[in-house]
Amino acid sequence: MQAFLARFSHFFKKAPLLKEQLPCSDFFKEETRRKKAKYGKVEVLDQGGFFTMENCIFCKINNREIPSYKVYEDEQVYAFLDISQVTPGHTLVIPKTHVTDIFEYDETLAAAVFARIPKIARAIEKAFPEIEGLNIINNNKELAYQSVFHSHVHLIPRYSKDDDFKIHFGNHADNYTGKN
Ligand code: AMP
Ligand code: ZN
Repeated sequence: MQAFLARFSHFFKKAPLLKEQLPCSDFFKEETRRKKAKYGKVEVLDQGGFFTMENCIFCKINNREIPSYKVYEDEQVYAFLDISQVTPGHTLVIPKTHVTDIFEYDETLAAAVFARIPKIARAIEKAFPEIEGLNIINNNKELAYQSVFHSHVHLIPRYSKDDDFKIHFGNHADNYTGKN
C-alpha cells in the first residue's frame, strides 16, 4: 500500500476533488437556469450543480488545466487514473472530444475510443501484474450512476473478491418466464 501511494502521491496531492467542482446553492440554481437558457442542453445534478462543456472537469483535465496522472494518450483519447482508485490502477478513458454520454457518440468516435480499450487494459495489467481480473464500466446518465458528464470508461482492476468493488445483477427471470 505504501509503495502504491508513493507511486501516485504527487497525483493525489494535486488533483482537486470532484465535489469541489460541484457548486451547490441557490446562486447555482439560478446559474443553471441561465446556462440552460444560453446553451439549451445542460446536465443538472441533484445537488443543484450543473455541467456544461464550459466547466467540464474532464475537458479541463484533457486541456491540462487540472492535473491528472496520465496512463495513456493519443490524438483521440486521454486515459488517466481515477482519483477515487476504487482499486489500485483504476483508470478512466475519455474521448478528447466532449460528448456527454454514450448517446452522443457517432460511430467514428465510438470506434476510436473503444478500439483503444484493450491496449490500455494491457498497459494497466503490465503496471499491476498482480491483477486477477478487470471490470469495464461506462455509466450513462445520473440514474445509471454517471456523475461526471463527459463520457468516460472505467477500467477497474480486480485483485480479489474482497477488493471493495461490487456489481449486483438481480435475477428477475421469474417475473418474465412464461409471458410473451
Ligand atoms: P462516474 O460516476 O461514472 O461519472 O465516474 C466519475 C469518476 O470521475 C469518479 O469515479 C470520480 O472518482 C472520478 N473523478 C472525479 N474528479 C476527478 C479528477 N479530478 N481526477 C480523476 N478522477 C476524477
Ligand atoms: Zn468535457
